[in-house]
Amino acid sequence: MYSDDELITCKKCRVEIDKMEEKNIVSPKNLKRLKHPRRILYANFPIKKDNGETDIITAFRVLYNDDLGPGKGGIRFHQDVDLDEVTELAFIMTLKTSVVGLPFGGAKGGVRINPRDYSETELERISRGYIKEFWKYIGPQEDVPAPDVNTNPQIMSWMRDEYEKLVGEKTPAVITGKSVEDGGSLGRDKSTSMGGFYILQEEFKNRDKSDVSVAIQGFGNVGSHLAQMLFDAGYKVVAVSDREGGVYKEDGLDIPKIMSCVYGGDNKNESVINCGEGEVISNKDLLELDVDLLVPAALGGVINRENVSDIKANAIIEMANGPILVNAEKILKDNNIRVIPDLLANSGGVIVSYFEWYQNLHDEKWDLEKVNSQLKERIIDAYNRIIDVAKKDDLDLRKAAYKIAIERINQAQK
Ligand code: NAD
Repeated sequence: MYSDDELITCKKCRVEIDKMEEKNIVSPKNLKRLKHPRRILYANFPIKKDNGETDIITAFRVLYNDDLGPGKGGIRFHQDVDLDEVTELAFIMTLKTSVVGLPFGGAKGGVRINPRDYSETELERISRGYIKEFWKYIGPQEDVPAPDVNTNPQIMSWMRDEYEKLVGEKTPAVITGKSVEDGGSLGRDKSTSMGGFYILQEEFKNRDKSDVSVAIQGFGNVGSHLAQMLFDAGYKVVAVSDREGGVYKEDGLDIPKIMSCVYGGDNKNESVINCGEGEVISNKDLLELDVDLLVPAALGGVINRENVSDIKANAIIEMANGPILVNAEKILKDNNIRVIPDLLANSGGVIVSYFEWYQNLHDEKWDLEKVNSQLKERIIDAYNRIIDVAKKDDLDLRKAAYKIAIERINQAQK
């Protein structure tokens, strides 16, 4: 199914690494260890379906690098997951944990299923089956999974339980993203948005917030909480969208009204376009609004060669993973559009995952105030280091983040 080359490398990671090497951002000797994933696990395991039939489940776990500590990265359940994608995501986690100074390496896992095709009991068997396959290679000091696309605290709890049965002792720190009742951390649910919010407060610290216009693509976990935080802090959130389309209001949208329409009461999962707030626009229109800040918080690749020349925002914060394609980035730069890269922007989630792991290991329970103040300290510290390196070495923020991340990994190797 995979060629030898695919099994030992990751094509998109190589493109990034080659660019860094070419442009001398990082010395080639520092990149050597990052050219290949440290460990790839690949399994086809059987599970019993509710009707008595057997299904074969394909699953992956990639530990890309562990120079800084145990692997860290989510497990996604998706019908299109493949080894190349999981490896690339594990590479990105390696850089992300490093740039924000966590004692973790990078990892990722995937199960190639459409979760909608399985009942709750079948999903439990799949989650437990995943751990039965890979348990010898995960653990609090080895590799620590977390939720990702289509996985949730319940799945993490099944996995923790299965791991504990196999090792014969309580090990809450084996997995993060658990429910608070099962050893999860307070603040994890909003942590990615909160991290982005702290960065934006720093970016716009000298501006009157009521003058800062913001458009947000995606009104899910990340986009909706960030919209609420920005609204509460006085920013003018002029547009939000979801997969059905968007809404726009020049003076600023009533975000609490949209929140309660989309997530409250009987209207759960309503689209933002059906909330009676603002004028309906398309996702294309939203991306092309003339705003101070554009926040892609939905999908990868939404700013690409086709639409990049129409982007009019002054700045973009990448809350989604990889929303700007490589070929569009240069044009944004030429047009003086500042980009706060995903490695930093959406790292709040993995930072609070680290806090969860730490609390579990030390048998502590932090209150929300402590979680958020520690998150703020860590993410602002990383932000300031990136700004300093960008200025000193005349790099954009993404390249500065890469440089810091790779040099930290390299130092840990010595
Ligand atoms: P989610 O599934 O909760 O929400 C996704 C939102 O995007 C929904 O509102 C959906 O309707 C919208 N959407 C889907 N297709 C769209 C389209 N074509 N145009 C506009 N909107 C569309 O997901 P999430 O957890 O909020 O994650 C959003 C992004 O942030 C993803 O790229 C994810 O990888 C990234 N991210 C999330 C976390 C986290 O902690 N949740 C952490 C790091 C990165």
